[in-house]
Amino acid sequence: FKSIVPSFPPPNWAQKNYSTTVSRRKDHHHLHVHLDQPPQKIVVIMGPTGSGKSRLSIDLATRFFPSEIINSDKMQVYRGLDITTNKIPMHDRLSVPHHLLGHLDPSQRPDLSPSDFRSAAAATISAISFRRKLPLVVGGSNSFIYSLVANRFDPGSDVFRESHPDPVCSELRYDCCFIWVDVALPVLNQYLRKRVDEMLDSGMFDELADYFEFDDEEASRGTRTGLRKAIGVPEFEPYFRRFGGGGAPKDDPLRRVVYEEAVRAIKDNTCQLAKRQVGKIQRLKSAGWDLKRLDATEAFRAAMEDGGSDSGKSSEIWGKQVLEPSMKIVKRKLEE
Ligand code: ATP
Repeated sequence: FKSIVPSFPPPNWAQKNYSTTVSRRKDHHHLHVHLDQPPQKIVVIMGPTGSGKSRLSIDLATRFFPSEIINSDKMQVYRGLDITTNKIPMHDRLSVPHHLLGHLDPSQRPDLSPSDFRSAAAATISAISFRRKLPLVVGGSNSFIYSLVANRFDPGSDVFRESHPDPVCSELRYDCCFIWVDVALPVLNQYLRKRVDEMLDSGMFDELADYFEFDDEEASRGTRTGLRKAIGVPEFEPYFRRFGGGGAPKDDPLRRVVYEEAVRAIKDNTCQLAKRQVGKIQRLKSAGWDLKRLDATEAFRAAMEDGGSDSGKSSEIWGKQVLEPSMKIVKRKLEE
């Protein structure tokens, strides 16, 4: 890939499309200086849960461009439930700065609205661009992405409503390079079901047990937490309300049944979420947004055939079919 490493920012970044207007308004004796800057360039990585967006963002950020990442997943903005919400672990971030990731106190701010995200992420983008780095927006909440980049955003409208959605704004306030990591749903579903088992193996149950213990205390003070809707929380609620956090699910047959039911519901709801996310991305695409679709299906299929043994075949396919084309797309955008 070294041959396509661009310099960033490109040499003509600052000069191109730049004009300075100086005007003297009659009503005030002030000098007004307007800098008509070109819209900021940003990369937006879209895709359903589990499609490899975080991995691609790190691949792009570390190998080729000095970049910083802004999370656009509405559950990952909160502190806590790191395994349950699939936050990228610290050791996988490879020192790439991440913003709006786990910084909000879930009991202080029960729901971050798309408008809140629009202003917080816009301020972060300005700060990153000021450091002459490339902002990469990464996350599965398409309502957040829409609110951030639409030139006019009406908090009362819903462009993703199933019946009679409001029109999609086609004017964007950033010069966006949209990359859509797509995986055929049957293959993604198979992966997502397996991923839930892996998340449980790596501590999701204990994490939720702690959450419910804490939530009990909070509930008595009447607070509601921003993480209450994260997949895993409502599904495990019957288990923890009934049995509490002590003891293991395998301790008795009744616990086991309620536990298995929660796991089944998590798997089903994760697959449903992925399907809804793809629907929302397709809505933006068919409204004319220039989303560049990359198909990661083969890489996922190879990873599952490997059975987790990582023979390198899947990484090779990912490199050829996802990473390399994304690099070319981003490079082209930066040189425009
Ligand atoms: P909506 O309009 O339904 O809010 P959206 O595009 O704004 O959709 P999504 O990111 O699709 O938001 O999230 C919708 C729901 O999916 C969340 O409220 C939550 O239940 C679940 N969800 C999303 N991301 C995660 C995550 N990282 N971990 C756990 N659950 C999640």
